[in-house]
Amino acid sequence: MPEMPEIEAHAERLAADYVGEVLTKLHPFNFTALKTAVPPPDAAYGHPVVSIGRRGKYLLIEFEPLTMVIHLMQGGRLLPDEKMSKKPRGGQARLTFGDDVPPLLLTEQGTERRAGIWCVAAGELDTSPPIDKLGPEAVGLPAEALAELFARQSMRVHGFLRDQRSVAGIGRRLANEVCWQARISPFATTKKLGLEGATKVAEAIAVCAAEGLEYERGRSDMSKSKDRPSNAHGQTGEPCPRSDEHGPDAIRAVEYSGYTVNYCPTCQTNGKILADNTTSKFLK
Ligand SMILES: [Zn+2]
Repeated sequence: MPEMPEIEAHAERLAADYVGEVLTKLHPFNFTALKTAVPPPDAAYGHPVVSIGRRGKYLLIEFEPLTMVIHLMQGGRLLPDEKMSKKPRGGQARLTFGDDVPPLLLTEQGTERRAGIWCVAAGELDTSPPIDKLGPEAVGLPAEALAELFARQSMRVHGFLRDQRSVAGIGRRLANEVCWQARISPFATTKKLGLEGATKVAEAIAVCAAEGLEYERGRSDMSKSKDRPSNAHGQTGEPCPRSDEHGPDAIRAVEYSGYTVNYCPTCQTNGKILADNTTSKFLK
């Protein structure tokens, strides 16, 4: 799933071409695409795009009367639509502007049909679904503020980072990368991390977000997750990139139904192997 760097860079690309363009129509291709009834999208017809930005993993297209909040979910894309076919493959919704730019097509491959658009009245973004559920932006959150959030609840730090209600913008890949960068066990308890742990995590978030953004800004379209350069995420069985520094060790994995926790035992768990049922075939 695209996370903060992918959405941020994509918002920048779209903003370069679409800010100032006047919306003429929003056409949903199925009933799940538009998640809200009030205000209706046509309240924005005839209005230019004021800004295109991001909050958490959501794209925000701002018009004066309302903001369209778009979630791409797993396989969604919002791209210029040169073809304009009647039934585009995976088509969820099409945003049409004046004659100077192609429409924007929201697609979602697969059958989940979870990508969609919320229209939220101006001034109500922070107090309306889906943005009202989000914690503060993970990127730029001061260590002291993160330490306060850590102290409030006893969670594994990997789970905390992925939970959009705790902090927003980090997903499965960045959670692995941040824990590796911070040299903290993904299963460390947030309550026990204190200001020292929060400082390491805040610094790691900054490093990983900056690396992701730099990579993503160098592309003309959003990367697929396997393209994104990663130190730990998706690197099961590969040598830890710090092996020159700490001696040979391999990235390990703990598999869950929806995601994989990747970590280096030497860097992150004092050499302890966490309940690990997947890497033995690589490491024998
Ligand atoms: Zn390591």
